[in-house]
Order: sequence, then C-alpha cells, then structure tokens
Amino acid sequence: MTLSKSLYTRAIQCPKSLWLKKYKPSVLTPPDASAKAVFETGNAVGELACQLFPEGKEVAFTRDYDEMIAMTKEYIGEGVKNIYEATFNYDGILVMVDILHVDAEGVSLYEVKSSTSVKDIYLHDVSIQYYVLSNLGFTIKNANVVHIDSAYVRGDALALDELFSVVDVSDEVMKMQENIPKLLEGFEKYLADKVNEPNIDIGSHCKNPYECDAKDYCWRVQRNIPAYSVFNIFNLGSKKQVELYEQGIVDIKDIPDSFTMTAKQSQAVRNHKAGVTHIDKEAIKAFVDTLSYPIYHLDFETFQQAIPEWKGISPFMQIPFQYSLHIEHEDGRLEHKDFLAVDGEDPREMLAERLCEDIPRDVTVLAYNMGFEKGVIKKLAFEYEALSSHLLAINENMKDLMTPFQQKHYVTPSMNGSYSIKYVLPALVPKMLDAYTELDGVQNGMEAMSAFASMSKLEEGERERLRASLLAYCKLDTLAMVKVLDKLREVSDD
Ligand code: SF4
Repeated sequence: MTLSKSLYTRAIQCPKSLWLKKYKPSVLTPPDASAKAVFETGNAVGELACQLFPEGKEVAFTRDYDEMIAMTKEYIGEGVKNIYEATFNYDGILVMVDILHVDAEGVSLYEVKSSTSVKDIYLHDVSIQYYVLSNLGFTIKNANVVHIDSAYVRGDALALDELFSVVDVSDEVMKMQENIPKLLEGFEKYLADKVNEPNIDIGSHCKNPYECDAKDYCWRVQRNIPAYSVFNIFNLGSKKQVELYEQGIVDIKDIPDSFTMTAKQSQAVRNHKAGVTHIDKEAIKAFVDTLSYPIYHLDFETFQQAIPEWKGISPFMQIPFQYSLHIEHEDGRLEHKDFLAVDGEDPREMLAERLCEDIPRDVTVLAYNMGFEKGVIKKLAFEYEALSSHLLAINENMKDLMTPFQQKHYVTPSMNGSYSIKYVLPALVPKMLDAYTELDGVQNGMEAMSAFASMSKLEEGERERLRASLLAYCKLDTLAMVKVLDKLREVSDD
C-alpha cells in the first residue's frame, strides 16, 4: 500500500473516502472557490511560519518523490538545521514534514496549520509523521503543531513569535503510535478490494472534521437523502439526526410526533408536514411598528486575513471593506448610498467615517442578522475613538429584520425550517433571485470576500469590472431587505 499523509488523514475520517479517492475519484466534488482560498491561505501561512526557523532549505515539490527524499537526505548530510517540506517514506507511507529542525540530539517536527487551535485531526497528521520518522530510525525530540494565535493584534510590524503558537503535542502523538499499524492494516484491507466500495454508512463523520467531498455521492446518489431531510432540522444536532436515520427516518414527514425536539423545531416540523404557510400577522405588525422612518437598510461586506496586514488587525477578524445603504423615506422615496474601499489599504477608518456621514445618530437602522453588523461596528468604535459615540449610537438604533423569521412569525414550507436570508428571500420575493443570478461576477458574500481580497493582484480593467460587480451585488442585498420589509408590511396589513 502507498499512502500519503493527506490520504492517511482522509482515511482516519472515513476509509470509504480513501477508497473513493483512490478508485472512484470521479464521484468526488471538486474544490470550490472557498476551498481553494483556504488552500492558498494555508500555503501563505506555511511559508511565513518557515521564518520562525530561518536560514533553512526547502525541498522543492516535484512529482518525483524519490528525488524529494534524496534531496532531504542530502540536506541532512550537509548539516542543514531547518528543512522545509522534508520528505520521507517508510513502508509505502509518504510524509512531508512542514518544518524539520535537525540538531545533534535528534529532530523536531513542526506541522503548520492556518487555523487557530489544535484539532484532533492534526494530531493524526503529526502522528503519522512521527511514525514514519521513528521507524526510519530518527531520534525525535519533539513533535509540534504551529497554529495562528487569534488573540494576536498586529502592531506596526508583524511579530511572528506572537502571531504563531507552537504547541508541543509529543505526548499525544506518542500515545497514538501503538494504534497506527492496526489502522494501516485496516486501510490496506479496504484498498485490497478494488471493486467493492467499503460498506460504511453515512453519519456525523461525513461533516467532521471536514465536509467530505463524497457527500453528494454517498448521501444524494446512493441513499437518496433529499435536499431537506432530518439532517437539516435547525440545531437538531448530529446525535438526534443519526438517531432518526438509524430508525430509517430520513423524510421530515416521517418523524413521529413523540420524537423529542425543542418547541421551535417541533413547530418547523409540523409546518413542513402540513405544507402550509404560517403567518402571525399581529406579531409581524408589532415588529413593523417598531420601525420609524426614515429606515436605513444596512449591509456590510467583510473579508479576513490569516496574516494581518495592518496595525490593529487580528487574524481572521472581520474587516469591513464595503457597505450598502438603502434609505426608505416615509413618502415612499428610496435613496441609495454606498462605500467601497480602495483595495490594498486598510479600509476601516475611511469606512467608519463615511458610515457616520451617511447614517445620522438617531435613525432606525435595519440589518439582517444584526449581530454581525453590530459586531463590526463595535470593533470600529473601539479602534477610532473620535467616531466611537456616533458608531455606538448607530448600533443602539439597530433593529434586526431577521426577527420575524427567527421568531417563526412567518414560516413557509420552502424555508426548510431556516431563517437565513438565503431561504427567506426566495420564499417572500422570488423575483429577486433572478436579479442575483443576472449579476456579473459577484453573486454571494463568499465571492465578494475573495473578489476584494484578490483585487490588488488584478490589472486595472479587470479591477474596475470587479469593483462594479461588488457595488451591484451589495446594492442588491439592501434592496432585497427593502423588498422583504415591504412583504412583511403587506401581510400584516391584509
Ligand atoms: S460522505 Fe460520509 S460515508 Fe461517504 S465517504 Fe464521505 S465520510 Fe464516508
């Protein structure tokens, strides 16, 4: 059996996933834009972490692993202290160590991760490296995970020793060694049969630790799990979902009335079974009546940086770079304002200033899922003292357009028990969906985020096209809020 480190961790999550990757890769879903972005971030973080161990040599990646192994050997022979991507093979198990530190007493392994904590799957990742190197006869001094410290706040310069946390996981991975031969034997057995897929059922392991790329195949194709099933009941938890699945219950309509759920979950299930729309006019009217004109419909777009580029930024902090405002006046007039930062510069201060110019202190501000907008504004208020009281006043006056849906005052079967705008908008204003699909370039928040993050690398013309796409997309988001509120007014007036 030949197995790379990534195939090993894939098999740890699910041996069937390993089998499919090896023998039936066509059924796997290719990585989407966000998976590619995560991959690129991982590479950038990996490269930066090498600076913690300077003056090393990198084993260049080639498809010729023997060459990489020979190069690693050569570097060790030359007395190179830090080797990046040091490559080894023991009994068909191929590993590349992100950073290998070599000294007279032995070697230290460093696995670099762009996340903010040590996850169990990383221990498996390091344990297989430990297994290979110890079996090759190396004395391993310690094994470590290097991850990003989310508490770090960048000052004038990037402080690598503060940005990264180095966690010694030697004890944990040593304890795992005993079990590895048994695990490898199991994987080998599965792989020995090239015709029959491993008989492994779906379950919570399909999403944990990673969303499996065979999910569409195993769930939809093989088991006919509908798009909305017991696995989609909001906050039900994987234990209860699996409990239902193991009883042969997949369709929500088949959930027995006796099954214990929260009141809101039970109501969502009853609504789905009945297939009727539930509208609590009075509660909706009470919500609408809390909003006084003019109403400022606000939506932010944000992006994140694993490696903070500007002072005051923490890793993965939501950095606002754009907003759209639709201002609804009592006479029916609709006004639009927006802001889109210049790429490549810290956008926060200018955005905060413009926000204070565009939104008076004492008006109703409406956001969908306002916790997000409020969190962004609170951080801006903390950072820019001169604007702080105005920004906090905006927060004070904010109301959440999500409330009537979250409180289940308006529920349609097509919302699938969710109150996310993704479900609410098509249920209430189906025409808006066409407007989104007609947008050129940027059609959702994730695309907006990666568009802005990559903009400074683009040629002028392409950059202008993308800026126009971002402005059009964000404008549509707040227009959608206006339409949703219109619909709420309409049903509460009926
Ligand atoms: S979807 Fe689930 S069962 Fe299928 S390969 Fe992935 S983890 Fe295994």
